[in-house]
Amino acid sequence: MRPAILFPLFADIRTLPGVGPKLEKLIAKVAGPRLVDLVFDLPAGVVDRSYRPKLASAEAGRIATVEVMVLEHKPNRVKAQPYKVLVSDDTSLMELVFFRAHADYLASLLPAGARRVLSGRIERFKDRLQMAHPDYVVAPEEITSFPLHEPVYGLTEGLTARPMAKAVRSSLDKMPAMPEWQDAAFVRQRKWQDFNTALAAAHNPVHDSDLEPTTQARQRLAYDELLANQLALLLIRSHMREGQEGRAIFGTGSLKAKAVAALPFALTDGQLGALAEIEQDMASEKRMLRLLQGDVGSGKTIVAMLAMLDAVEAGLQAALMAPTELLVRQHLGSLEPYAQAAGVRLACLTGREKGPGRETTLAKLAAGEIDILVGTHALFSEDVAFKDLGLAVVDEQHRFGVHQRMQLQSKGQKNKQSSADVLVMTATPIPRTLALTAYGDMDVSRITGRPPGRKPVETRVMNGERMDELISHLRTALNRGARAYWVCPLVEESEKIDLAAAQDRAVMLRQALGLNVGLVHGKMKATDRDAAMAAFKAGETQLLVATTVIEVGVDVPEATIMVVEHAERFGLSQLHQLRGRVGRGSGKSSCILLWHEPLGETAKARLKIMRETDDGFVIAEEDLRLRGPGEMLGKRQSGMEEFRIADPSAHADLLAVAHDDARLVLSRDPELKSPRGEALRILLYLFGRDEAVRYLRTG
Ligand code: ADP
Ligand code: MG
Repeated sequence: MRPAILFPLFADIRTLPGVGPKLEKLIAKVAGPRLVDLVFDLPAGVVDRSYRPKLASAEAGRIATVEVMVLEHKPNRVKAQPYKVLVSDDTSLMELVFFRAHADYLASLLPAGARRVLSGRIERFKDRLQMAHPDYVVAPEEITSFPLHEPVYGLTEGLTARPMAKAVRSSLDKMPAMPEWQDAAFVRQRKWQDFNTALAAAHNPVHDSDLEPTTQARQRLAYDELLANQLALLLIRSHMREGQEGRAIFGTGSLKAKAVAALPFALTDGQLGALAEIEQDMASEKRMLRLLQGDVGSGKTIVAMLAMLDAVEAGLQAALMAPTELLVRQHLGSLEPYAQAAGVRLACLTGREKGPGRETTLAKLAAGEIDILVGTHALFSEDVAFKDLGLAVVDEQHRFGVHQRMQLQSKGQKNKQSSADVLVMTATPIPRTLALTAYGDMDVSRITGRPPGRKPVETRVMNGERMDELISHLRTALNRGARAYWVCPLVEESEKIDLAAAQDRAVMLRQALGLNVGLVHGKMKATDRDAAMAAFKAGETQLLVATTVIEVGVDVPEATIMVVEHAERFGLSQLHQLRGRVGRGSGKSSCILLWHEPLGETAKARLKIMRETDDGFVIAEEDLRLRGPGEMLGKRQSGMEEFRIADPSAHADLLAVAHDDARLVLSRDPELKSPRGEALRILLYLFGRDEAVRYLRTG
């Protein structure tokens, strides 16, 4: 239950004075439906009215507050013309300009001969000073009735600044006094204010610099949010582990030795390092929850395979889950030779396995006659029961949510009190800061470096208008036996149109090149798609036109050319993934990024980065910077909630502290029962981490 102290904050914004149904909708659109959403909607700008020049020296274009005498009204004769009022101070004249104003109203607001203080933007118009529609007009003795510094909030069409600011202010007025949930010594050391004071300060900027994420006030609030996030992740994780002791899984090395002997290459130091970390985890009594990060092509799959063999050596089963049918087939293909060499029984389970075949697989799985099962999310089905699952590997995890991950883990407990170790492989290099917010204290192994002999992929950025030129180069390369991908973008809203474009492109290229051209896309029957992929892999087709279905994981070492059409529509990580499809063999590879107008600033920046670096981690950091964290992983993917105040890139240092802090708090007070613990519960609710509180045994 949400603590009573927070009730006022979780009221609907329509309960605020002056907020009717229309305004409610608009405000909910920019901030959210409840008061708490408004108090966390920090200003994006500040209007500074403290500039108080004499008229003669007023800088044009600036917001100023001036004291004047009203001289004369010049009503408009025609409706289309403005109503003007002439004013002056002892240095100069100025014209006030009003469109569609009522003469009576203006006469009482600005009586001739009266002194008035005006605040608004001063412009110079043909040597004359003008102020159109002053923001404030008051008598000199009332100057304190308007704020010299006004926060500016994000708006949307139909929502103007004043009602929005008023709604935020009214919400802040309802803000209850919060208890201190942070460690007092830490707050003192940082010279932070208490939560309420910091929140008020964040809403009262004076200078632009007060809007920076590094102000004391914003840091304090960001830290509160980050701590809530880290606590929630830890609580969810410990809930996942509850009653599920891990177990020590030792390989004997016998099967692994056979698989390694069958490898046509030596493992890199990066691979060996990651494998050692995984094996150490598996061998411990603690349950493994480990993230294996490695750039595209860094060779994660074989590392996962060897870890799975460890489990099989220990007499247990292993599962590998991939997000698409295509990837499952591919994993199966690449694992088969090693499985054969090691003499382990490999099977596959996807949505395509049906009827008696599926029944047989399930029966064998339950009887322990399958050692390694590879599949899609079909592995989650209710009726899938392992005899004893020791290790679950999840590939390309950003396609799965936290809950699916948990489901697979729980498969490990079917018949035993223990549950499976979990290894999550991700090909998207996730920046450290983000990994921490999304995965909490999941342990991380990174494969750095690439298998030897890889040449960097030469990247060219090219105007789409030069496509003819590109095609003629492509013809030459293909005639020499090269293999190439041609990627057409797929935009969700108009999948049909995009598909048609890809089909047209395939036809066009077939004609232009006089070669067999394959086509794969998401709407295709899985068997047709596999056939097209197989033909490309076998070299029967040299050019494969594809929508982004090839984004993830496809491995054809002979392919050396990647063309991406409308590259400006892709995100950085996506482009990096696509580029990673080439440069996998020994041949020299190139990636051609075709762009088309209009080319925005962000898109331009992205293409530049692609040309400049090949380092997936650098690209991931840049992606984070250009797109922001919410978009990068998807708002709700990977359990990552969007932050309201914290910015994982600007507050990376705080995130690291919050991470340690959360661990310490829960190690001392696992049920959050101490006075600080009670306050932290309020913090969790305040930032919408209700789910986590529910996992507290006494919660
Ligand atoms: P990832 O999944 O990390 O993108 P993969 O595991 O699919 O990478 O490996 C990419 C390619 O590199 C595969 O063809 C694989 O056989 C090959 N490979 C993996 N490890 C090595 C190595 N140590 N030396 C040479 N080639 C390797
Ligand atoms: Mg892979």
